[in-house]
Amino acid sequence: MEKTVIKYRHCGRDVYSFSHLDAPYSHRTDDSERRCPICRQTRTFGLLDAPVALPCPFRNGHKVSCAFLIGSIHGPSYLGEWNDTEIHVGLSNSEGLVYNYTLSGVRRDAHGWEQCVCVQLIPPERRDLRESWDSELEQFSVLPEWIPERFSEERAFGSCCYGFALTFINHMRWLDGKASLSRDEFTGHHVLPRMKTVSRYINIYHAILQHGFYIANTLDDM
Ligand SMILES: [Zn+2]
Repeated sequence: MEKTVIKYRHCGRDVYSFSHLDAPYSHRTDDSERRCPICRQTRTFGLLDAPVALPCPFRNGHKVSCAFLIGSIHGPSYLGEWNDTEIHVGLSNSEGLVYNYTLSGVRRDAHGWEQCVCVQLIPPERRDLRESWDSELEQFSVLPEWIPERFSEERAFGSCCYGFALTFINHMRWLDGKASLSRDEFTGHHVLPRMKTVSRYINIYHAILQHGFYIANTLDDM
């Protein structure tokens, strides 16, 4: 999912397509990409109606420090459905290592989280929390709770990687004098709103791959 999605207005509708600037230069003379898929006219835009790029919801998790990361081993296309079997979550430290709990215990990945959804956890002005994050995370990951043997045992209450990440977030909240968040509170406030945007982006992206464009429903709000 590396192409830039642009959005423009034509014939009273919002139309999405890939930016033709992404295409190799020799292909740019192909005029069909510049036609509106509704009226078939070549698009000309006036002042203030230049196409806008749709922000890509995926970021490189190794470059976002102290964040909750949502990824999928099958690639970002699989992040559209909030499905425990497809989704794997982890926590980044300030060096770009991603701590995540798996069948083989806690892993510290230096690669593999290049396209994921990132939830930044520490406000920029809280340098104190940022400074203790790495050592707290390292100490937390060697606790006997996260040995490989317990992975399947924990499975009953939900996905283990999620439990690992949320328990650490709650540990940091406790150090900061804040109450714990339940799994439902955390998911409802911090994860699901982002996943809604992600799943809409993926649908638009796939429609463009298939048809060359996507025309928004008048009821859509993005
Ligand atoms: Zn048109």
